Amino acid sequence: MKNNTVTIIGGGLAGSEAAYQLLKRGFKVVLYEMRPEVMTPAHKTDYLAEIVCSNSFGSSDPNTSGGVLKRELKLLDSLLLKIGEKSSIPAGHALAVDRELFSKRITEELEKFENLTITRKEITKIPFDSPVIIATGPLTSKELSFSLMKFTGRENLFFYDATSPIVEVSSINREIVFPASRYDRGGEDYLNAPFTEEEYKRFYTELLNAEKVPLKEFEKHLFFEACLPIEELAARGERTLAFGPLKPIGLTDPRTGKMPHAVVQLRQDNLAAEHYQLVGFQTRLTWSEQKRVFRLIPGLEKAEFVRYGVMHRNSYINAPLILNRFFQSKDIKDIFIVGQLSGLEGYVEAIASGLYAGIMMAKHLNNEKLVAPPRSTALGALGYYLENANYKNFQPTKFVFGLLEPPGIKIKDKRDRRRYLSQKAAEQFDFWMKNFL
Ligand SMILES: Cc1cc2nc3c(=O)[nH]c(=O)nc-3n(C[C@H](O)[C@H](O)[C@H](O)COP(=O)(O)OP(=O)(O)OC[C@H]3O[C@@H](n4cnc5c(N)ncnc54)[C@H](O)[C@@H]3O)c2cc1C
Repeated sequence: MKNNTVTIIGGGLAGSEAAYQLLKRGFKVVLYEMRPEVMTPAHKTDYLAEIVCSNSFGSSDPNTSGGVLKRELKLLDSLLLKIGEKSSIPAGHALAVDRELFSKRITEELEKFENLTITRKEITKIPFDSPVIIATGPLTSKELSFSLMKFTGRENLFFYDATSPIVEVSSINREIVFPASRYDRGGEDYLNAPFTEEEYKRFYTELLNAEKVPLKEFEKHLFFEACLPIEELAARGERTLAFGPLKPIGLTDPRTGKMPHAVVQLRQDNLAAEHYQLVGFQTRLTWSEQKRVFRLIPGLEKAEFVRYGVMHRNSYINAPLILNRFFQSKDIKDIFIVGQLSGLEGYVEAIASGLYAGIMMAKHLNNEKLVAPPRSTALGALGYYLENANYKNFQPTKFVFGLLEPPGIKIKDKRDRRRYLSQKAAEQFDFWMKNFL
């Protein structure tokens, strides 16, 4: 064994799970958590693994993406999932937890380990003298952000997330939406949803009146001219969108032979071919309003949203340039970066990354070969995404079916496809655990 002590910075969801995985494998862990000495704008307590907002960990149904990911975490003995289930409150197929009980129990469980030292202190510099897992989350403190910037390169650490919604291509009405690039340049890279003047006016009015997620105090400085939410742009006047992100210029609707009044362009996601993203639609509309208003776009009447748009404060790195599929730095193998900071989104994804990196750090320090689960599994797909996503337009992701290796056969019905992918994930994960763990 090279070293039997691991430093973990950040005792949130990812850091707490990573600590547990290392502790139970006999490693010593020094966990630095800055609360309550220094609080983030969202946390309220000094517990480890505090949940900052909703108390839901999403679906546990085995044929949903949430269910697939949770199955893998359960098989790998996730402490946070185990305690989540023990602290659960009724919520149908979803796993919802009593937030106070959850974090309190995690803290108590971890404190039982004699090989754990918890130090309540803000870390301001990445330590390079020992193996370290950085798990400081979306609200990583300022000083550490500077140190991270030095490590990743200034341009590869982001401080907010502005993501446009993504829809499933099979739910787009192709009789209305047509493939084309502006002025026929660049092949048929985009799908184009054309508006008549009347359709545009209706969409515009609904967009203006739609309900928005209120800005938190610490997010008030978030918008700048290059990245305004679509509804803010719309508020500047009726034609602003039609001259901006919805400009129709250079596009001809094949149904009419004319330039439409306005156009929403959709671009293919670079890894998940079944997913198309609405270009320039970063938004703070609530998710239910996104579904209602964006379905007024011609051809998207029945759009299935894989992911809704968000705009929020979020520190994350440009993972494809920095990490390999094990959440390990490509340059310095003793450094792992996990959780929201690694470019994942969501509670369960943060737990998953902490768990996976904890196991991989243990293997790395034991000089064992690291073998990733295949891309047809949830953990494999998340690691694959971070390593292979387009670094020029890298955006954080939740685990969704579209990240999995495509099925290789055509399955028309969505539910059948999901069942097939879930089963394949289960088989491949079991094989990986048996042979490579
Ligand atoms: C306001 C807000 C609301 C969110 N709501 C949801 C939601 O409803 N559902 C969902 O699925 N996801 C949500 N997320 C996204 C994400 O899932 C959570 O932020 C999740 O907690 C991320 O886990 P993490 O382990 O990466 O970070 P965290 O759980 O935030 O853990 C990071 C820890 O590091 C500590 N820390 C930071 N800097 C330092 C330092 N320099 N030294 C020592 N300690 C440090 C922090 O105090 C914190 O305890 C939300 C995010 C935010 C910001």
